[in-house]
Amino acid sequence: MTVRRQGGVVVEYGGEGVIFDPTSNSLRHPVFVSHAHADHAAAFRYPDLVKYATEPTHRLLEALGWKRADGWHPISVGDKVKVGDIEVRIHNAGHILGSVQFEAATPEGTVLYTGDFSLGDSYTMAAAEPVRCDLLVIETTFGSPMFTFPKRKEVALEMVRWAVLEAVPGGRVPVFKTDSIGNAQEIISIFNRMTKLPVVTAKSATRASDVYREYGHRLDYIDANSDEGRRLLEEGGCALIATKGSKLGDGKFEVALASGWAAILRKRRRSFPLSDHADFRGLLSFIRRCHPKRVLTFHGGALTRDFAGYVKKRLGIDARPLTRREETLMGPVSRSEVRMRACCDQLLRTLRIPGFVYTNPWLVREMARRGFTRSETEAALRRLIDQGLLTPAGSGVKLG
Ligand SMILES: [Zn+2]
Ligand SMILES: [Zn+2]
Repeated sequence: MTVRRQGGVVVEYGGEGVIFDPTSNSLRHPVFVSHAHADHAAAFRYPDLVKYATEPTHRLLEALGWKRADGWHPISVGDKVKVGDIEVRIHNAGHILGSVQFEAATPEGTVLYTGDFSLGDSYTMAAAEPVRCDLLVIETTFGSPMFTFPKRKEVALEMVRWAVLEAVPGGRVPVFKTDSIGNAQEIISIFNRMTKLPVVTAKSATRASDVYREYGHRLDYIDANSDEGRRLLEEGGCALIATKGSKLGDGKFEVALASGWAAILRKRRRSFPLSDHADFRGLLSFIRRCHPKRVLTFHGGALTRDFAGYVKKRLGIDARPLTRREETLMGPVSRSEVRMRACCDQLLRTLRIPGFVYTNPWLVREMARRGFTRSETEAALRRLIDQGLLTPAGSGVKLG
């Protein structure tokens, strides 16, 4: 069993493979999409790919205008999908509506791919469950000690206090710039539960919230482009949920950011650390509870480069960032092993005529032209003979 990063996270075993959250269609393996955020759902741009995703994920993509949400097979938490000898099991990720983690079980061991995940019960989602696994591929968006999120309820109260006791009495409309899927619905839920303030939503937040409603979430909000929405924004006495990039020129808006990144922003800008990701301590405790033999990290930026080091130091578990290099349960596939495989492949492409005896000196010369040393060629020949793909014959080898 090997794991590597190629567009998405690729797990292969016995000639078959699966790919989690790919960003291109360069591999033909069946695709598993963890959730509807654009950086994870890019596979839905390619109608020819076989894609597994939950029904809410598919609905969210449709609602947000992904025209080609086809080639799709529905899955739900608890399901198992067989791809050759790999069995993919689906677990809740607690991140946004429909988000899941994927456990790939092979005869050699299991790999857990978390996707984006969150650990506290939020106002809209149940927390992710740790899953026992051999190899853990974990997203580390906030994998630095500087990311410690306060309790969700405290953040919620801060947001409400600011909106209701400061912005609105000052004749201004409090605006939360945030993700349209996930945080937007959290904020609606918070204001619905704790205040009587109407919540007005920008178009993408409205569409995503409509899907949450389809799945039984009780959320009250008013679209900014409806008559009532326009009237509320005109008269004040409401809160507005806008996308991160939206421009709000009018002086009556008072803008705050709601995002995990708020944890490290200067206080100069109004911001609230509302996050649908695990924070640093959450990541470590999740890893501990999964009992992996090795940890491979992905998604970290410059701030979280050292996260693998913390895993080693604090948990005593081998950890490193996942790259294009193939990883196994035991460790990374060595560079010499990669060369060896490339050399074997090249030899098999060179020896094309069945029954013909290729002499060793000729093969060594031929392979040297392709950048392989004499000892590499000789070792590769020995391996192919051991595997029964070549037979020694006189001063050389032949196929079969
Ligand atoms: Zn996400
Ligand atoms: Zn992500």
